[in-house]
Amino acid sequence: MSIVSIVRVDDGRVTEAIQRAIDLVDGLAILKPGDTVLLKPNLVKPAPAGSGIITDARVTDAVAKLVLKHQPGRVIIGEGSSVGYDFPGRVDSLSAMERSGTADVARKYGAQMVDLNRDEIVDVRAPNAYVMETFGVARTAYEADMIINLPVIKTHGRTGITCGLKNMKGVLPGNEKKRTHQLGLDRGIVDLNRVIKPHLTVVDALVGRAGTHTQDDDRVRLDCILAGTDVVAVDAVCATIMGFDVDEILHVRLADEAGLGEADLDCINVYGERIANIARPFQPYAEAAKERFGEATILEKNTCTGCLGEMESTFLYLNEAGLTDRLHELVLIMGTPDEVPDLETTPVIIGRCPSDHRHLGVWVPGCPPHGIKITDAVCEALGIDKAQLHRVIKQLHEAGAS
Ligand code: SF4
Repeated sequence: MSIVSIVRVDDGRVTEAIQRAIDLVDGLAILKPGDTVLLKPNLVKPAPAGSGIITDARVTDAVAKLVLKHQPGRVIIGEGSSVGYDFPGRVDSLSAMERSGTADVARKYGAQMVDLNRDEIVDVRAPNAYVMETFGVARTAYEADMIINLPVIKTHGRTGITCGLKNMKGVLPGNEKKRTHQLGLDRGIVDLNRVIKPHLTVVDALVGRAGTHTQDDDRVRLDCILAGTDVVAVDAVCATIMGFDVDEILHVRLADEAGLGEADLDCINVYGERIANIARPFQPYAEAAKERFGEATILEKNTCTGCLGEMESTFLYLNEAGLTDRLHELVLIMGTPDEVPDLETTPVIIGRCPSDHRHLGVWVPGCPPHGIKITDAVCEALGIDKAQLHRVIKQLHEAGAS
């Protein structure tokens, strides 16, 4: 039987909850003095602690503190932010560490910070791979004696949920991240975890994120911490807490079938709180997207997070500008769609992947293109005044900065 702990955080006492959650699963039993430990939070993009988008720095702080009691040789905090947030010197994993407060944790404990997108790459082979037989991973992750995975509990547009298994994607350099989307994200995640498997997963379930993550009420407060040495079991419990049927979360089911862990709740011992006492439905991404993106037609396949994230910004701007009723006229082509039918309206073609279709409408080059460029292209395709949208964008950015 696999074991997963669920511990409620009382009165903001995160450190105590994490200590208990890890103790219940004996999570640091394998850690030896002198070991190199990689802490791998989710810092998908620059966002503040408590947003539910990234791992709360208090979680990383508490785990680092516990790890240091075991006299490791080195503690490293490493992350490779997502494709749309990997532009060194402008926005990258290190700026995500600063924005989230994770960099302060690293400085406080003398931990090294590593941008895994810019790390040396080691070529690895996944035994019995579904789709990625060989791929490159960050050397820091490959060589760590212990990987402690620190995901935050969230919905995801492609994979239903993102938690422990998917959080490991941060150890893939940028081009390999894109490849997992092109080859099939769920199966790519499993292949990655065949090679780089976390030894312990501690889930930030203080505040998670539902829907498309774009609205304030997408934040879901659970005020708890989960831990386990079987990342598949941890994800199965998290999916259940979020109101999903584990069998419908493909990468979790496939990880079980690949022998990486246990996804059957009947074979998982839950210590601490009962799932039923914590469970709170998270609105699925697809359901929220349908509500928020209205009647727009999206022709796509294998689009990765970079373009999806930028496209979300565009929809946010259009909705804020009161242009929701124009969305039924909008056709977007993204990723590598199987086919593009004859269209009566001018489509917007987003990014490098669908560039073969650029002659059909307004093409936005880039990998990914910036959300404002996509917005400009949408204005051009629909005959909307760009200045109107730019005023809205300015207001939103000013409100966000205040
Ligand atoms: S163009 Fe977009 S979908 Fe294609 S690899 Fe780049 S970010 Fe991903």
